Amino acid sequence: MSPATGGGCCDTVVLMDGGAVLVKTGDLLQRAAGLPRHFGRALLDTLYPPLCLNCEAAVADADALCGTCFKELRPITAPLCPRLGLPFQASLGADALSAEAIADPPPFERARSAVIYNDVARAIVSRLKYGDRPELARFCARLMAGAGAELWEGSPVLVPVPLHPLRQIGRRYNQSAELARKLGHFAGLKVEPTLVRRVKRTRQQVGLSAEQRVRNVAGAFAAHPESLARNGVRRVVIVDDVITTGSTIKAMTRALKKAGIAEVDMISFARVVPGHDA
Ligand SMILES: [Zn+2]
Repeated sequence: MSPATGGGCCDTVVLMDGGAVLVKTGDLLQRAAGLPRHFGRALLDTLYPPLCLNCEAAVADADALCGTCFKELRPITAPLCPRLGLPFQASLGADALSAEAIADPPPFERARSAVIYNDVARAIVSRLKYGDRPELARFCARLMAGAGAELWEGSPVLVPVPLHPLRQIGRRYNQSAELARKLGHFAGLKVEPTLVRRVKRTRQQVGLSAEQRVRNVAGAFAAHPESLARNGVRRVVIVDDVITTGSTIKAMTRALKKAGIAEVDMISFARVVPGHDA
């Protein structure tokens, strides 16, 4: 029956029916749109229960460590050297520097790290770097946001240690850039991954002596003057996964200072602390 031949009441019914169907469809669509979030999460948790990021034991929340592994992490907390961020056994006073900072003053102002580089930290870093587990970055960045709290004052720009373009090809991502991105999210800071470039393809620092490391990364970085000017950058916090001897971040700091950045700090997830074996 076409509306033209039917009575007024039928036309109204047809229209209302159609209208009701539309409303119902809309409602269904709306509810269906909500499904993947709740249903999907529950389904995923049933099919793939969240596992410890280190040992793969079952855990309650995704992107977390189990209790046993978490206890193995050694957070670096005060008292520490205000310059190098190395932990002290006992407080020597607020401004007391470590022997290392006095003997060999670094070009950066302050370094902070979330945890001591031990077995668990090494496992996390190596999975972050080579295991294609970018979700680990969220876990690390959360700890880094707390460890570097005093560095975030004045809204510095976060700059990850860049990979050489040729090395980046072999990897799906730069772990330092992933850390910086997540840290920027937690600390509410801008991230500029292209401010500093690697202009020299260096050897891996692993296995080199402290002196070889310094030579290896000398002149390896160049700050991008155009980006610095365009972004009006005044303070930079370099982001890396691990500090070993610090030669990489020192070389990067020198490049930034040469390009006119007065204040450079650095934050890493882990750091090698003499006397604490990895
Ligand atoms: Zn575990």
